[in-house]
Amino acid sequence: MHTLSVKTPRRECFVDITREVARAVEGTDAVLCTVFVPHTTAGVTINENADPDVAADLLAHLAELVPRNGRYRHAEGNSDAHVKATLVGSSVQVPVAGGRLVLGTWQGIYLAEFDGPRTRKVHVVAHHG
Ligand code: ZN
Repeated sequence: MHTLSVKTPRRECFVDITREVARAVEGTDAVLCTVFVPHTTAGVTINENADPDVAADLLAHLAELVPRNGRYRHAEGNSDAHVKATLVGSSVQVPVAGGRLVLGTWQGIYLAEFDGPRTRKVHVVAHHG
């Protein structure tokens, strides 16, 4: 298992970690890769990384769906971040062939930060056939 350390620059942002994940499986005979985020206010998702407006739209619409100051019980003040993390999910799996991630042309892997800025861990587990 590889563990990446990812700095997130703002409270809410998507950080493209495709290259770092690719490096973790490079030169291996892995057939599948799991990317797991061990946090409760951040997640991981796959979406378009060609046009940065897509990530901006995702963040803006998640913010509309889950208001920062909604009626929450959790007293830490970051309930919206917990809800968004659950919506996005804490892991993704990507096929691997010839030591390379098998992603679609427009796909990238994003760490989805909802309560930054912080340094987050991302575990990359390579599965062998
Ligand atoms: Zn909390």
